[in-house]
Amino acid sequence: MAERLLIVGNGMASVRLLEELTRADAGRYHITVVGAEPSEAYNRVLLSALLAGDVARKDIVLRDAGWYAARGIRLISGDAVLDIDAGARQARLASGEVLGFDRCVFATGSDALRLPLPGIDLPGVMTFRDLADVAAMDRVAAAHGRIAVIGGGLLGIEAAYGLAKRGADVTLVHVMDRLMERQLDVPAAGHLRRALRRLGIKVLLNRQTVAITGEAAATGLGFADGSGIEADLVVCAVGIRPNAALAKDAGLAVQRGIVVDDRLSASLDGFHAIGECAEHRAVAYGLVEPAYEQARVLAAVLTGNEAAFTGMVLATNLKVSGVPVFSAGDFLGGEGTNCAVLEDRDRGVYRKLVFREDALVGCVLVGEAEDGLWYLDLIRRSVSLGEARRALLHGRQAAEALLPVTGNPAPAGADTIQPLAAALPATSSLSKAA
Ligand SMILES: Cc1cc2nc3c(=O)[nH]c(=O)nc-3n(C[C@H](O)[C@H](O)[C@H](O)COP(=O)(O)OP(=O)(O)OC[C@H]3O[C@@H](n4cnc5c(N)ncnc54)[C@H](O)[C@@H]3O)c2cc1C
Repeated sequence: MAERLLIVGNGMASVRLLEELTRADAGRYHITVVGAEPSEAYNRVLLSALLAGDVARKDIVLRDAGWYAARGIRLISGDAVLDIDAGARQARLASGEVLGFDRCVFATGSDALRLPLPGIDLPGVMTFRDLADVAAMDRVAAAHGRIAVIGGGLLGIEAAYGLAKRGADVTLVHVMDRLMERQLDVPAAGHLRRALRRLGIKVLLNRQTVAITGEAAATGLGFADGSGIEADLVVCAVGIRPNAALAKDAGLAVQRGIVVDDRLSASLDGFHAIGECAEHRAVAYGLVEPAYEQARVLAAVLTGNEAAFTGMVLATNLKVSGVPVFSAGDFLGGEGTNCAVLEDRDRGVYRKLVFREDALVGCVLVGEAEDGLWYLDLIRRSVSLGEARRALLHGRQAAEALLPVTGNPAPAGADTIQPLAAALPATSSLSKAA
């Protein structure tokens, strides 16, 4: 008899796992998927584009209910797994249903963090994580409200951009001295800030928010220096935390996320974790590409094949129209590295490549980022650059023909680069993962 496989979560990692599993060995498991969100599975990466009005709701759907039914998968949407008895192999749902299983995969993603501030629980304070958040933000933006976004990382910038595009009066507040400090160096962040200003977004740096003001609802922000701003809505985009409490309560080893090995197995036999809820070699990734690669590896493992996830160098696209930004690997450069920089302030173009010996180890691109995935490939494959190094700063067209001929092994995760790139609007910016 087929084993019963329970998948907790119906997000991006879960869908990719189902696609891979059913393609590889359709009848091997009786699969049940439980997803807390009431909607069809959707592409969370595109929520920013949805908020900005660049795509429609139907464009972000990954798989509808018919897809699951056609593959014999039982999908339970709008219901959550409340607890798991690992010994009895049973999961209890919010609806009261109890599901038995032989094997369980956690694909529960992350929760958006809320700063522990006075006023954080007031109505009018929200985070940016799901479809319901987009709908709530859209209502205020459409009324041309004043919106304060706390957090100058990727999510905060994308939220600010989308809200401004919808007509809101947006102020982006960041505690650090530059935007996206985990992905951009000082000059690159300066270019980005100027580009956001041109889009009508006010950017406040070095501002530590110490309170959300208001009595019955949020009315603004108070800063540590005594100043403040008024706002009709506050969006808190300060980071994420792996959604691992369910697994912890079930007795699985959890540090930041659910601890998994190279085969995506958790600490108890028969349990696995993939995506943002998982912690692999002390890293809990906050991007979709490793989630997809983990899903691919776990599908292979679950169908009896040899496969391993060994970690990956990441890049992120900032999906803000007219502000291409890309950053990957060691973008700052330290001891033992060498940097090459090209900058044209008038055109808002900045390109920095970081080399270690004869290989590219990191890059930051602002203004023109179309060669980003090509640079990422060179970084991942540690290509020995030879003659190509002198032309590398001038882009793929100038340098590719000069690269030494190699066996061109497929880069790790290369199959996932294209889908990610294809899922994003042509413009973007980036960083190394959480
Ligand atoms: C606005 C936004 C923009 C982003 N942009 C990018 C980008 O440009 N590039 C990039 O690489 N990444 C981006 N990300 C991150 C990317 O979306 C995530 O890395 C990806 O969704 C992770 O997939 P996941 O399946 O691990 O988690 P999720 O997609 O979050 O799915 C987890 C699902 O599990 C459900 N769940 C949780 N607990 C339970 C439970 N107990 N029972 C049942 N269901 C449960 C949740 O409701 C959720 O639906 C972005 C994220 C956001 C919010």
